[in-house]
Amino acid sequence: MPPIDAVLTNALLPDGRRADIALAQGRIAALADAGGTTSAPTLDLQNALVLPGLVDGHLHLDKTLIGLPWMGHAAEPNRMSRIETDKKILPHLPLKTAERAANLIRLCAAQGSAHLRTHVDIDLEGKLSKLEGVLEARDACRDYATVQIVAFPQSGVMRRPGTLDLLDQAVRAGADLVGGIDPLEIDRDPKGQLDGIFKIAERHGVGLDIHLHEPGAMGLFNVQEICLRTRAAGLNGKVTISHGFCLGDLAESKQRETADLMAKAGVMLVTHGAAGLNLPPIALLRDMGVTVFAGNDDIRDTWSPYGNADMLERAALIGWRADFRRDDQVMIAWDLATASGARALGIPDYGLAVGAAANFVTLCATCIPEAVAAHPPRHLVFHRGKVVAAHGHALDRPADPAAYAKRN
Ligand SMILES: [Zn+2]
Repeated sequence: MPPIDAVLTNALLPDGRRADIALAQGRIAALADAGGTTSAPTLDLQNALVLPGLVDGHLHLDKTLIGLPWMGHAAEPNRMSRIETDKKILPHLPLKTAERAANLIRLCAAQGSAHLRTHVDIDLEGKLSKLEGVLEARDACRDYATVQIVAFPQSGVMRRPGTLDLLDQAVRAGADLVGGIDPLEIDRDPKGQLDGIFKIAERHGVGLDIHLHEPGAMGLFNVQEICLRTRAAGLNGKVTISHGFCLGDLAESKQRETADLMAKAGVMLVTHGAAGLNLPPIALLRDMGVTVFAGNDDIRDTWSPYGNADMLERAALIGWRADFRRDDQVMIAWDLATASGARALGIPDYGLAVGAAANFVTLCATCIPEAVAAHPPRHLVFHRGKVVAAHGHALDRPADPAAYAKRN
């Protein structure tokens, strides 16, 4: 067994136990009853609740305005105007993509998120420039959180010839997944778009994450087409539908039929509980075997002035929209932002267990439902055994727990 680097004393675990958490080489080496003697350097958690690192399964690092003075929302209330507004505003901001993306990664870390999946615009105007910026930010912030990147054709695929080539180049340049968007509503060519993006994913052996805002029967058609292609390509467990608002529009019998299709194909759903649109039937989908997880989506950006990167607040918002009131229901919202997200992102060694990566966050609550409902301020955030944020702010550099304790 490797030597213990530090012991975090007086932790309150989600199961109610008081424990000391021993860390070695960035992992949890032991979870022992509190009060044992140790010769290793210690950091006293003062009975704070310790939760595993949160998972933000859908955000847009390249669009954020975090770090800039406040800018009022500039787009008209429709998707095409937001797409065009991005192109007018983002290239001329005083902070480059890499700086804004790094600001947001650090804010996510400060709120307790350990793992992120971001979409990054790939289009004919910007080509791979935003991807390059986000790759730079991911590298600069690699000690704070992990970041998966989806090459996202925000402006459409078939209506913008040349985009498929750029998506292919983006995966070769470091994007982890291929994205898609509203194959009928935006492209009016579902076969063209879906065949094209699945071909890229198969060629490179990567997954897909497809934005699907389309309502009702239009969206359902594309859910079915995505499931068909996922099965044919053997991509079970590697394909996500983002939003899937159409699922909330369907009669319950059709929801069950579609959930069964998704579960059998291994197609997952990520939700952020959008305002003004039908929420997919989260509990029904989970009961039918679909992996459902959560993300913040827009965080103070050109698409929305709202958002603070807090996945506990996001879980509360989703729970509020889904009318989750009892503890067992609030625990569903919690699961979307933690274990289900980790499973969807393929994060190994996740959780508060011996041998798992030492990624966790501490705060003042007595149990998980309280932590979700109240989403109190974060005390300390640990990533791979180092303190990376304290009291809502990312540290300039990660600190050994004992060194952090001595300084504070
Ligand atoms: Zn999105």
